[in-house]
Amino acid sequence: MSDGFGDNRPDLSAFWMPFTANRQFKAEPRLLAQAKGMYYRTFEGQEVLDGTSGLWCVNAGHGRQEIADAVHRQLLTLDYAPTFQMGHPIAFEFAQALTTIAPPGMDRVFFTGSGSESVDTALKIALAYHRARGEGQRVRFIGREKGYHGVGFGGISVGGLVNNRRTFVTLPGADHLPHTFDLKRNAFSKGLPEHGAELADELERLVALHGAETIAAVIVEPVAGSAGVLPPPKGYLERLRSLCDKHGLLLIFDEVITGFGRLGAPFAAQYFGITPDLMTTAKGLTNGSLPMGAVFAKREIHDALMQGPETLIELFHGYTYSGHPTACAAGLATLEIYAREGLFAHAAAMAPIWEAAIHGLADLPNVIDIRNIGLMGAIELSPRDGAPGARGYETLVKALNAGLLVRATGDVIALSPPLIVQPAEIEKLFSLLRGVLASLD
Ligand code: PMP
Repeated sequence: MSDGFGDNRPDLSAFWMPFTANRQFKAEPRLLAQAKGMYYRTFEGQEVLDGTSGLWCVNAGHGRQEIADAVHRQLLTLDYAPTFQMGHPIAFEFAQALTTIAPPGMDRVFFTGSGSESVDTALKIALAYHRARGEGQRVRFIGREKGYHGVGFGGISVGGLVNNRRTFVTLPGADHLPHTFDLKRNAFSKGLPEHGAELADELERLVALHGAETIAAVIVEPVAGSAGVLPPPKGYLERLRSLCDKHGLLLIFDEVITGFGRLGAPFAAQYFGITPDLMTTAKGLTNGSLPMGAVFAKREIHDALMQGPETLIELFHGYTYSGHPTACAAGLATLEIYAREGLFAHAAAMAPIWEAAIHGLADLPNVIDIRNIGLMGAIELSPRDGAPGARGYETLVKALNAGLLVRATGDVIALSPPLIVQPAEIEKLFSLLRGVLASLD
């Protein structure tokens, strides 16, 4: 694929691209020009089916008129106003609207600017909560191997993706549960894997090691996303919930990917019927249209902090863009689309078709695992001898040339289409991918 810019090619040198092999990219750039519905479009006019909802975020599909209109109106009404010791109606309105789809009792909302900020905010709320209750010695966090919780220092500390941690220093006091990925026992599982619920019991070992009285919270993605779509083993999250209750640890679900319908319910919490204490979100919150995140808290957690003189600032934490009016306008318009079009229920209805279609690729060479849940899926390829990640990268490039956007992390191809996807598009997606995978050596 040429970059398609013709004579208008911008100078690519200044933009230091995130999570990108910059030199490789700039030698062979891949640039998208437009997007509408399920499709991107390149500068040459080639349509590219969006198999990843951008970065797991454009759940209602691209170019939604209602969001554009709401943002435009808000920019001209009140473009920006602070929410420190000051307010504007739309932030309150959006928080209130979010409580209508929140898991039971999680009706207090702290706004942030991204998923990473949501994670750091939730960790800080957990510390502040314990301190307010006279348990200020609870300062440790338990994350999980292969976990991804964004790139703040808090997030990389509880996160367990080695490359994201090792160049940097991490917070003291973070420890990790084992990951649940088990190719031997669970390869080609449909939905939740049968084996591995007992891995949640490792929390008992960490509690014995550190002392429950020193641990503030456990944070997990209900379905690990960035590690390559790892649905939890059957019964795993239930065990984690009951162990957290037993030891007085807060349970944080990082729902930055699973939130807003990805599994066919508003949040994974409802999908699994397990209510965490804190929940981090972003991405689908505004349909990816503007940067924003939100932390949902159980009311008791919020209320535990509302103590002391009324003139006291209860939580010394917040961002210039917490509750940004324009992002709130985008978010409200997004929620209206989700509700009006019944997109969470539609995702649930598409999930069995998705499952059958993705597992239809099991016969292809190099495919060593296929995983799926809701409208998420991953195809794991065997690494090429001496070149881990090469098959994944080749798949990404060839798929793009064939008109399909996939995400490749190492040799895992991850998929998460917009929730508006229809059966014909599911069929098209997997037939394009079949062609690409069949062409790999
Ligand atoms: N948590 C999870 C589970 C995520 O998947 C991500 C982003 N993929 C983040 C946190 C970080 O979000 P952001 O990139 O918006 O900071």
